[in-house]
Amino acid sequence: MLLLATFRLPLEIFLTPARLDFLQSCGLPAAWAGQAQWRVLEMGFGVGLNFLTTWQAWKNDPQRPRLLHVVTTEACPASVAELLQAAAEHPDLLPLAVQLAEQWHGLLHGFHRLTFEAGQVLLTIGIGEAKELLKEQSFEADSVYLDGDKLSKNLENIDPHLLKALARCCRRGTRLASLSTSISVIEGLIQCGFEVEKMSGLAPQGEKLQARFNPHWEPKKAAQANKAKPRSPTRCVVIGAGLAGAACAASLARRGWQVTVLDAHASAAGGASALPAGMLAPHTSPDDSLLSRLSRNGLRATWEIARTQLLADIDWQASGVLQRRFDASGGLPMHWPEAGEHWSRMAGPDEFQALDAAIGSAPRSDQGEDLPAIWHAAGGWIKPRRLVQALLRTPGITPRYGFKVASLQRSTSFTTDRSWQVLDANKNCIAEAELVVLAAGFESAGLTNTPERLPLQPIRGQVAWGVVMETDAMPPFPVNGHGSFIPGFTDENGGSSWLMGATFDRDNNDSHTQQQDQQDIFGRLQQLLPQTAKTLASSFSDGQTRAWAGVRCVSPDRLPIVGPLDDIALPGLCVCTALGSRGLSFAVLCGELLAAGLHAEPLPIEKRLAQSLMASRLHFSE
Ligand SMILES: Cc1cc2nc3c(=O)[nH]c(=O)nc-3n(C[C@H](O)[C@H](O)[C@H](O)COP(=O)(O)OP(=O)(O)OC[C@H]3O[C@@H](n4cnc5c(N)ncnc54)[C@H](O)[C@@H]3O)c2cc1C
Repeated sequence: MLLLATFRLPLEIFLTPARLDFLQSCGLPAAWAGQAQWRVLEMGFGVGLNFLTTWQAWKNDPQRPRLLHVVTTEACPASVAELLQAAAEHPDLLPLAVQLAEQWHGLLHGFHRLTFEAGQVLLTIGIGEAKELLKEQSFEADSVYLDGDKLSKNLENIDPHLLKALARCCRRGTRLASLSTSISVIEGLIQCGFEVEKMSGLAPQGEKLQARFNPHWEPKKAAQANKAKPRSPTRCVVIGAGLAGAACAASLARRGWQVTVLDAHASAAGGASALPAGMLAPHTSPDDSLLSRLSRNGLRATWEIARTQLLADIDWQASGVLQRRFDASGGLPMHWPEAGEHWSRMAGPDEFQALDAAIGSAPRSDQGEDLPAIWHAAGGWIKPRRLVQALLRTPGITPRYGFKVASLQRSTSFTTDRSWQVLDANKNCIAEAELVVLAAGFESAGLTNTPERLPLQPIRGQVAWGVVMETDAMPPFPVNGHGSFIPGFTDENGGSSWLMGATFDRDNNDSHTQQQDQQDIFGRLQQLLPQTAKTLASSFSDGQTRAWAGVRCVSPDRLPIVGPLDDIALPGLCVCTALGSRGLSFAVLCGELLAAGLHAEPLPIEKRLAQSLMASRLHFSE
């Protein structure tokens, strides 16, 4: 690697010629040298050889762009075995294929973001019909691999509609490579504004196409929101060192921003993110609602950070979570595809006998009828503070604690007239930056510096927790229902603690604990896990349980608020808050959405889902 850093070696040294076709036809790797990001769009992922080849070329190039995005579509994803089998023929790609296989699961319809190389190689795979999927993105591709992997199971033909959809994702100068040389493809490309050249290709194709998007008309861009000019990374101040702030800081720092994170507390995760341990589990609903889909996307993003940056069984545990159902809500869609079982499945009648033994024979529903429980295989517990600390370790972040921000003002300095000044209560400037992200939970509402306030509501919550004395009385995994129970997480002393949560106290932003709440929590435990409640009854009655309280922050539609506040403030002010009761699922995804918007990058999720989180959806009150 040292050698590579000094001399640029020809790509052919690393790659066999047949696999170079798409790269070479798109002028890569020379075209991406020194760029901040490079966005490849591929139709048909197949067994991923084009992606792996592009990733490897990026890895081997000392002048690689900071970020490599590959956006790809696939009608019917290959199996893990097929991915590995295909890569086995190319030993140099196999280690990358193994990493791909680790994240190759739960690929339901829609987009999924898979993350490699500490977030610098981003694969966004859309499962479904390419034409429809392309409408759910709005970025400009730098390179297009038209017919992707030859083993792709895409059912679609390359027809004029697909080419039109694809041309909408191109900028003037985008280069396209194709192994399809039919007249219809050539004519279709020309009609869409490409200059096309037929070339002799490598065996076995014989011929290939190279094309460049250069229409003789001005392409319509106005409607394509994310085609804004990408911001160049400079200085950023994030206010708040909780999950939201840490996630935004990490996403921006990975893109080259110099990020200062300010927090009023003396250390990271001093607010709601100080929760001793929290639950990671997807939301489910019979109609696979917006929230259900968002929660799965968010969970995938958090899971990858946990898997690669946290200590298993100490900072988090991929234990799975059982969801007890006390009414008919929260079920799974009737025809839940097989890929969904990675996330959640109905528990069979003979399953989870260990849990049945632990919870006793109390009826499982208010109506006395047994509703099937749901097993969230992609669930577990995690310590929010550890996640925050891991995110804040991203190079480029400087945390500064003990700074309470009182207001913001635009700099009047002639040279830095586009920056924001961050002021304390005495109007002293604590920090200055071109970009400010408000991630101060409920307190974000008061920091917008405009008459309009962010519509945020505080919801106080308390949990009870204590040292595990009798492991036999504990369920073997966390259980969700009305309230949630974590039977054993590694506490700060290295021991094992249980945790039961949580109360909901609307319009209350007091984070002090209250003794009477412990009884409320005990009542929830009795309903959720009667057997465990019997064992822990004495701890609750003689006041041995510990209490922790925090303030959640929610928006009117109970979804996070992310993105620029252009509607109410001057440019350069963004927000990330209202993570509600799902900060562990949403924070990392929100950080990536914020960064994607600022840098005109491909979205990690469908545009429709992303828009449901954007600050621009809100009505502000005075
Ligand atoms: C009882 C309870 C149980 C929960 N259980 C779960 C769970 O099981 N799973 C899950 O996913 N989520 C859970 N949550 C929700 C989760 O904790 C939150 O969604 C998440 O912590 C919110 O993160 P945040 O960064 O937005 O806010 P916070 O963590 O509150 O961070 C905001 C930060 O901003 C700082 N700040 C505020 N004002 C200023 C200022 N003026 N100047 C400088 N700094 C400032 C604060 O000091 C704070 O550190 C729970 C929450 C509670 C209260």
